[in-house]
Amino acid sequence: MSKLPHIGTSIFTIMSKMATEYNAINLSQGFPNFPVDERLTDIVAKLAKQNVHQYLPMSGYPPLLSKIAILVKNSYGRAIQPETELLITAGATQAIFTTIQALVETNDEVIILDPSYDCYEAPVLLCNANTVRVSLNDDYTPNWDRIEKACSSKTKMIIINNPHNPTGKILNESDFEILESLLEKYPKITVLSDEVYEYITFEEKHISAHTREKLLNRCVMVSSFGKSFHVTGWKIGYLVAPEYLMKEIKKVHQFLVFSVNSICQVAISEYLDLVSVNEIGSFYKEKRNYFRQLLKGSKFELMPCEGTYFQVASYASLSDKNDVDFCKWLIVEHGVAAIPISTFHADGKDLKLIRFCFAKDNATLEAAAKRLCAIQ
Ligand code: PMP
Ligand code: GLN
Repeated sequence: MSKLPHIGTSIFTIMSKMATEYNAINLSQGFPNFPVDERLTDIVAKLAKQNVHQYLPMSGYPPLLSKIAILVKNSYGRAIQPETELLITAGATQAIFTTIQALVETNDEVIILDPSYDCYEAPVLLCNANTVRVSLNDDYTPNWDRIEKACSSKTKMIIINNPHNPTGKILNESDFEILESLLEKYPKITVLSDEVYEYITFEEKHISAHTREKLLNRCVMVSSFGKSFHVTGWKIGYLVAPEYLMKEIKKVHQFLVFSVNSICQVAISEYLDLVSVNEIGSFYKEKRNYFRQLLKGSKFELMPCEGTYFQVASYASLSDKNDVDFCKWLIVEHGVAAIPISTFHADGKDLKLIRFCFAKDNATLEAAAKRLCAIQ
């Protein structure tokens, strides 16, 4: 008997494991391979010898909560109450799981836009609720007609992910206007806004749910320091929610983790005094441009990338294989690991697209591109 009969091992685990087995360059799972900012590692080294090793308050280290409130104010002009509207979580994954467990009830429906990141579905199913998977358009913009048709009296939540993994698309002003008018018709729906790549956008500015007056009272916003500060293994992030939702979310949080690891919270709190989030976008824009330029001589067709650190590419002119087999072949025969996009679709829709992570040092990007360009 399984509570999640059709859920297997995540594609990120599978591809990273295979990359290690075959000694391939790993552009699959999304994590940086360059050194972490020394200012941050120095803080951690210093803190290791201080008295920061015991439980912190359930919702987070108070100075960190205050600094996140300042960060949100500076980034988006939104004033949040750190004591009642903010929660430090063990990464965005825990924030998402906790929110869904707290707010979704038996037989509710949760709308997920495909292709979608993999951590949304299982927590919904564990609530004995149902996911309603709605495909994005082929250019990865939301299809609001389809989304509206999917809404009903059973819909409890819509999950948006902006900037979007895996496609690198971002939502625009008109998307938010349509979402807001849709929500007016369905007062029961809460928005879960996964914004872990909020600071990684390029030509266009990120529009956060924080800036949408009409959403604030019915939206849970999720972020990840793993993504923003290149420390994915730290598993630390936060969520912002209106107090009436936060009350419910904290009830679950206290029995899932109680409080998040202390040294990382104190370290991030001190680091926030030194770092500027405004540099993250330009840092990754350079990486994106460099990687795209390196792949110019290849047969991969590169899709637009507006944000995140993922580049989607079509291999249609190289192979007829399905994308999962293509990714396995790419590792075994050419020593480069990527992620097949079909695994982000409930129906396994295969458009011969794969995702490369470009959060890598230049030497890694160059070595990978050399191998990718050699495939003819
Ligand atoms: N949402 C998206 C869209 C992601 O790409 C990731 C991976 N960072 C997460 C959530 C989970 O983030 P974390 O590692 O902080 O749990
Ligand atoms: N967010 C990472 C990605 O999209 C994966 C994290 C994980 O392995 N769970 O590649």
